[in-house]
Amino acid sequence: MTSAIRPRLLILHQMPSQFIRPLERVFDLDYKDTSVPVTREQILSRIRANPPDAMLFPGGIKIDKEVLSTAGDKLKMLATFSVGYNHIDLKECQKRGISIGYTPGVLTNGVADLGVALLLATSRRISEAMKKARNGEWGKSSDIMWMCGKPLANSTIGIVGLGQIGLAIARRLQAFSIQQILYSGTREKQFDSEDDKKLFKFVQFEKLLNQSDFVIIACALNEKTENMFNKQAFEQMKNDAILINIARGGIVDQEALYDALKKGQIQAAGLDVTTPEPLPLDHPLLTLENCTIFPHIGSADESARHQMAQVCVDNLLNFFSGKPMVHQLKIDNL
Ligand code: NAP
Repeated sequence: MTSAIRPRLLILHQMPSQFIRPLERVFDLDYKDTSVPVTREQILSRIRANPPDAMLFPGGIKIDKEVLSTAGDKLKMLATFSVGYNHIDLKECQKRGISIGYTPGVLTNGVADLGVALLLATSRRISEAMKKARNGEWGKSSDIMWMCGKPLANSTIGIVGLGQIGLAIARRLQAFSIQQILYSGTREKQFDSEDDKKLFKFVQFEKLLNQSDFVIIACALNEKTENMFNKQAFEQMKNDAILINIARGGIVDQEALYDALKKGQIQAAGLDVTTPEPLPLDHPLLTLENCTIFPHIGSADESARHQMAQVCVDNLLNFFSGKPMVHQLKIDNL
């Protein structure tokens, strides 16, 4: 391609050079090889200075009406480095005829591993335990119940959103001798094996809350799931239930969660995602021993991140050479 007809690509996060090189060959890149996060103002000013044909960005960057209208008619494609797409104004993209590439599937294992790690860290009070090993509290109690946590064996697991990640977490938890998996969502799933038919039970959200020992949020954030975990939801959960959120912060009303944890309405929570991100250092949830918080590292395993980057690159290259993307988000009937 000659430089005159090269499409312009704005990249809003840092990536290893092996993923930048194939893009460089085709696109006129606006890319800064730095790990310093870009601010909203910088994004808008880079778009104004050089309106892009395409943008590549992570799930933490909001692509709303202002960003899209600043980019104007030149923008034809968005490549999000995520499986979630709640950060993109889909209706505005549909109106403007903008195509969206995303990265489902390739991060499922990484997020499921982390989901289990977060569940165990929360139920076995790992961050509290590590602190005690360092601060001299180890050996100061003769109580046989010191630092006890909640066991997984024989427990009922509730999964809100049995999609790719929810199911991959369920499969991992089967190794812990759990008793039953309840799940809620928009529709019942079909299972082939008799064992699965016995293990998985589709239930209403309220029943899942009433009966689960561990509740795992693995659904998409959308109009129906936003603040789904509110005061009423926590009131319906068991007092010794543990809540895990590996999906999106917006699904949980954090003030209600704080109250529920503080009052002992639920036993503990483990969050990989919060609102906002990063969570401000003076946020009340960070003061609670029974709240384990990870800095949104669900997909942060090398293989997942490399595969996500490759899917983004292929989505971009395919789209601009007139081929179907590897994963294109369907936004025809919103
Ligand atoms: P997926 O396969 O598309 O699954 C999405 C799930 O959301 C589906 O099971 C769907 O249920 C459920 N859902 C949608 N609307 C719902 C509603 N109203 N009530 C209950 N469930 C509802 O996506 P995935 O790959 O498993 O990813 C799931 C989510 O995880 C993503 O949307 C993303 O936000 C989050 N995520 C987080 C990280 C991280 O780093 N922590 C990484 C990747 C993804 P049905 O099947 O019943 O329709």
